[in-house]
Amino acid sequence: AAESCCKEHLYKVLVIGDLGVGKTSIIRRYVHQTYSTNYRATIGVDFALKVLNWDSETVRLQLWDIAGQERFGNMTRVYYREAMGALIVFDVTRQATFEAVAKWKEDLDSKLTLADGQSIAVVLLANKCDQGRELTNNAIKMDQFCMDHGFVGWFETSAKDNLNISEAANFLVKHIMATE
Ligand code: GDP
Ligand code: MG
Repeated sequence: AAESCCKEHLYKVLVIGDLGVGKTSIIRRYVHQTYSTNYRATIGVDFALKVLNWDSETVRLQLWDIAGQERFGNMTRVYYREAMGALIVFDVTRQATFEAVAKWKEDLDSKLTLADGQSIAVVLLANKCDQGRELTNNAIKMDQFCMDHGFVGWFETSAKDNLNISEAANFLVKHIMATE
């Protein structure tokens, strides 16, 4: 239909999770196709824009990276405001970062809901999967965890090896579009 041609969507997407799990690396890989082992943590919020051609439409993903605030384990309502989706990241080599995932999800859900009262679409990323699979090798357990905590799905990712990041983002976009 004519009205669907060239339609543009702008989605604010939050990237959250504990310090050092790879949030900035994932965004850099996804948006700038680069990877480095040393990103200086800028204090505050960083933005990156990824433009996707989605059928005949354009999707602009505004990715919100946090830096220096992770240690508090929560964010302010202002930061979450008007987000349409989120990626919650943990580091497969550090169990504690997985344990923090539920806390991040609860913080998000307690401060942000869509107009209809639903929670926004959130995908869980098990990052640094190039380093091992001990935490994620039980897919049934991971699926159950996602069901219990309201994640729409999970992916093993590696910013280092460029694994599954665009797949996870596309999956999130699909869910955002379904709830929009
Ligand atoms: P952030 O604090 O969550 O933004 O984490 P960073 O993106 O700064 O990454 C922390 C460290 O983990 C850096 O040294 C990265 O190079 C490293 N890192 C990030 N992603 C990966 C990955 O997929 N695999 C491996 N092996 N290291 C990673
Ligand atoms: Mg960072």
